[in-house]
Amino acid sequence: MKILKDNFNRKIEYLRISVTNRCNSRCKYCMPPEGIKLKSHDEILSFEEITNIVSVFAKLGVKKIRLTGGEPLVRRGIVDLVKKISDIEGINEITLTTNGLLLKKYATKLKEAGLDRVNISIDSLDKEKYSLITCGSSLKDVFEGIEEAKKVGLEPIKLNTVLVKDFNDNEIEDLVNLTRDNNYDIRFIELMTIGDTSNWSKDRYLSNETVLKKIKDLKPVIKKDKSSPADYYQIPGYKGRVGLINPISCGFCDNCNRVRLTSNGSLKLCLHSDEEYDLRKYAYDKIKLEEKILEIIKEKPKEHKLNEGVVIKKNMFQIGG
Ligand code: SAM
Ligand code: SF4
Repeated sequence: MKILKDNFNRKIEYLRISVTNRCNSRCKYCMPPEGIKLKSHDEILSFEEITNIVSVFAKLGVKKIRLTGGEPLVRRGIVDLVKKISDIEGINEITLTTNGLLLKKYATKLKEAGLDRVNISIDSLDKEKYSLITCGSSLKDVFEGIEEAKKVGLEPIKLNTVLVKDFNDNEIEDLVNLTRDNNYDIRFIELMTIGDTSNWSKDRYLSNETVLKKIKDLKPVIKKDKSSPADYYQIPGYKGRVGLINPISCGFCDNCNRVRLTSNGSLKLCLHSDEEYDLRKYAYDKIKLEEKILEIIKEKPKEHKLNEGVVIKKNMFQIGG
């Protein structure tokens, strides 16, 4: 079997797919409040194109797929797509990153279709603040989504919180306390200055060191999955864990095992690079597609340059996070 390896001997086993750039929310660090220029349906990869591309990646050793966006649950037919991907030989894990707003409605169907787990973004436990950062979304819907995901077994649930200075740094303790009785991983993500929202983000960055300074009882947990960007901690006796994802203050590039497919069919080898390679034009020729992927993968950069002040032009909702 052919293996997907880059020039730095990193084996690529994980593909993240942005299935839409549309979203039913407007997080201030991700989307401009006035909205975005919507892509027409034919600019977005069809399900057939996505499954063709996934099946070639699977043949090359990719085992894990994450569906993201924009908001993946606003893509019509998302449950069918999960089912189609779960039927592809070699794919043994399918996960989804969501804002949770529609999860109550879809959790059961997604589980039945073969989804394994969900990551749910939640930046505040206060309904007013949540509404403020998302420009009007409802925290109640997110909690209902989390409950439903738990009920149907889309577990372990990971909660993602982007740390924002003078916004949610006073909630760190409350967020960590969610791990006392719940088997959640709560993961703090450092804010990135990226795309059209760079101006909003640039003065609101807070290092994840803040979490360790505030919560002295956190003890490091031995990392089982070296490719995970999160370093994990736990308060002894608590059920869940606390993850710190530090794209700015510390690199995790040495063990990177992932690439990204944008909603219009471009392959991104690194989240923090503007370089993209069009795969859509080969989506119906699997032999050519395989050849191209093996060629393109050699261009994967050794590491990103975010900590050197580089600003990425593309928006997070276009890349998928
Ligand atoms: N809509 C889904 C959601 O919000 O979970 C999936 C797409 S969203 C782009 C994926 C992740 O990227 C979310 O956890 C979000 O918080 C994170 N994200 C978006 N913009 C970010 C930024 N500027 N810095 C750090 N994380 C960001
Ligand atoms: Fe939408 Fe997710 Fe971006 Fe928020 S972070 S605007 S929910 S894509």
